[in-house]
Formats: sequence, structure tokens, C-alpha cells
Amino acid sequence: MDRYNLDTLCVQAGWTPKTGESRIPGICQSTTFFYGDSQAMADCFDLKSDGYFYTRLANPTVAAFEGKVAALDGCPAGIGCASGMSAITLAALTVAGSGDNILCSQSVYGGTFNLFGTTLPKLGIECRFFDPDDSAENIEMLIDDNTKFIVAETIANPSIIVLDFDKLAGIAKKHGLLFMVDNTLATPVLCRPKDFGANVILYSTSKYMDGHAAALGGMIVDAANFDFKGNPRYPAFNVPDESYHGLVYADLAVPFATKCRAQMIRDTGAIMSPMNAYISFLGCDTLALRMERHSKNAAAVATYLAGNKKIAWVKHPSLSGDRYYKLAQKYLPKGQGGMMSFGIDGGIDECRKFMESLNLITQETHVADVRSCVLHPASTTHRQLSEHELEMAGVPANLVRLSVGIESAEDIIADLDGALKNI
Ligand SMILES: *Cc1c(COP(=O)(O)O)cnc(C)c1O
Repeated sequence: MDRYNLDTLCVQAGWTPKTGESRIPGICQSTTFFYGDSQAMADCFDLKSDGYFYTRLANPTVAAFEGKVAALDGCPAGIGCASGMSAITLAALTVAGSGDNILCSQSVYGGTFNLFGTTLPKLGIECRFFDPDDSAENIEMLIDDNTKFIVAETIANPSIIVLDFDKLAGIAKKHGLLFMVDNTLATPVLCRPKDFGANVILYSTSKYMDGHAAALGGMIVDAANFDFKGNPRYPAFNVPDESYHGLVYADLAVPFATKCRAQMIRDTGAIMSPMNAYISFLGCDTLALRMERHSKNAAAVATYLAGNKKIAWVKHPSLSGDRYYKLAQKYLPKGQGGMMSFGIDGGIDECRKFMESLNLITQETHVADVRSCVLHPASTTHRQLSEHELEMAGVPANLVRLSVGIESAEDIIADLDGALKNI
């Protein structure tokens, strides 16, 4: 499969039926699997042979989706998780424990910010947030012997900051540190993080991968390009795991994903459900087509907004005046995705009036599916904050977040235009 282009992999990877089998993966809605003799089952438990024994650890439908996403990223293994948040949690706990620290971009998704800033510290894992636009020297100062990984988003949600891969990959490499990237808003269609030095790639598949706002899910992809062997940062990869038949993970072909599944998926049960894997697999069939259209529509909408007098500012990396235009040309040359934010000339009242005047574009907290949707954080998700606090959080009162769908760009622009005229 590897030799095919990405568009082909979207359609064909993950499931190759044998004679008489279903053309697309079936929903294997079974907790358990049958074995005729105990040796065959024992080999399975020892990871000596492929096979399924319990859906909390692995399931054929989930495996098909894992195979598809891993192929899209050009990587050997993926792990389907119950949600994007569980994928990030399990990836973190695979390498970090009490007394360790991690480095995370301060402009990550709100859920990730809470996980790393509030919940993981309760388990003794300290998170050191950095400004992704800061110099390599300043970011490096946060690293010590107990640092376990560095993580950031390809396209940050919702600040639309494009990641400087070379800078972060350079830091990680210099310090023998694992580099994780949340690639949710770019997807492998627009950016393959492995090509720019990422070791572990994370997804909320609830967004573009499913693409229809139908199924929650997450994915951990292991590029298997990080050498844990003898690295003093990762003793747990270099000693036998007594809880798993004395396995030494650093000796394996895909150390990170194997450890994550054998320990974290086993112990937390946060695996993706077969039904959600099936829906997400079907969604991914059209991922390349959709990402092309999302990007094209968003670029047209951004250009329209930038030329409208009632708009104070627009952030989308397709605009040549955008702060991240150059980074986007380097890392997202095929398209910059459908997510953007803009500021309405005015305050909360003007924004409310604008939001209420939209017809086609609906108000939602979700993003990145086929339907265009908007959110005005200051009057909804961030309504407890004062005007000053909103500024500090990088969410000014006039900010509107727009997820551009795959409808006709003409219709999307007409809806925005009508609402702006109403202010
Ligand atoms: C939505 C999102 C998540 C969380 O995913 P869920 O599937 O909602 O748990 C993580 N990272 C990014 C960038 C997201 O947009």
C-alpha cells in the first residue's frame, strides 16, 4: 500500500478483504474471540502471534481504522481510542509518571490545556507551558532530566497558529526527547508530521477524520522513529515489564505503541468502540476530497472577510498577510484547512447581532465537520471571563471562530455577508 498516493490510501488502506469477505470492514460487535486450543490463545497473550482475544485490547473493526490512519501518516501502527482526549491522556501516561514533567505549547486545545494544566499535576506530572513562537533557546530552558516529551498542535485550535516543526523537532532531537504532535486540524492529507520529525502523532478523529460529526474517537500513531534503547530518559522502555511477560519495549519494532496498548489500553479500557471505528473508517474514505474542499472554501471566505469593512481582522494561514503564511507554505502547502477566526468591528453586542443573523451557518461548539459552524466564545464558552481576562486568554470579545464546511463557498459567503449587513 505504501507506494500509493495519499488520496488512494484514504480510499483503499486499512482493509483488504480475502475471497468472500465483506468489501468494507464489518462492525465486529463482539467482546470476545474463539480459540480452539489453549496454546494458540497463550501465544496471542504473549504477543507472539496476531489475533484478538478481548475487545478492551484490540478489535478487528478498530484495527481496520487504525491501519488506515497509520497508512495515511506513513507509520507502522495506530491505536484507536475512545476520544481525542483519551488518546492524549494515554500517550502522555505511556512515558510520564509521578515526578516527571512535560513541555506543552500554551496555545493547545482547551481540553488538552486542562488535562496538562490541572489533571495530570494531580498525578504528580508537572506541565511546563511554552509560547510556540518563542525562541528555541527560551523553550530549551524548560527541559531537565525528568522531561519526557514535548507536544504542540500542527494548526492550533482555536488560535490558528501554525507549528514551526523544524524548531521543535530540533530541540527534541538535541535533548533525546520524544516529540508529539496533535495533527487533528491538519490531518495527514495536509501535513504528515512524521516527515518533519514527529515521533508520535495524535488525533481527535471526532473532527475531520470522521468528518460528519457522527462519532467520537481518538488515534495515537507511532512513527517508530525514536530510539529508546539506552536513552537515560526512558528507563521504563529499557527494563523488562513484569506486568507484561518481561517484555523490553525498546527492543521491539514499534516500542511506543506496544507499550501504550499493553499497559494503558489494557489498564484504562479507553479503546475506541467498533461502531465508532466503522463510522470513522467510512468518513476517512473521503478525507482527501473533503480537506481539499474545506481548504479551498476557507481561503475564499478568508479573502472575502479580509475585504469587508465590518471586519477588524481575519486569521487564516492562506492569507499572504497572515503571521503564519510562510510556515503554512512550508508545512501545509496543499491547503490550510477550514478553521479560521476573525474579529468583528465592535464588541459583544455587534457579535451577538451577527450570530443571530446567520441562517445557513449554525452555532455549535463542535468544529471540523462537513457543515459550516460558528462560535462566539465571549458570549458562550468563555462568558464567565471579564473583558480583560478575555484579552489575556487570547480570546478578545469580538472574536468569532468559524469552521468552514464543504457547502458551496458562494452560499457560505452570502450568509456571512447578509449577517454583516445586519449589524
Ligand atoms: C477536539 C480536539 C481534541 C479533543 O478531542 P475529543 O475527540 O473531543 O476528545 C484534541 N485536540 C484537538 C486539536 C481538538 O480539536
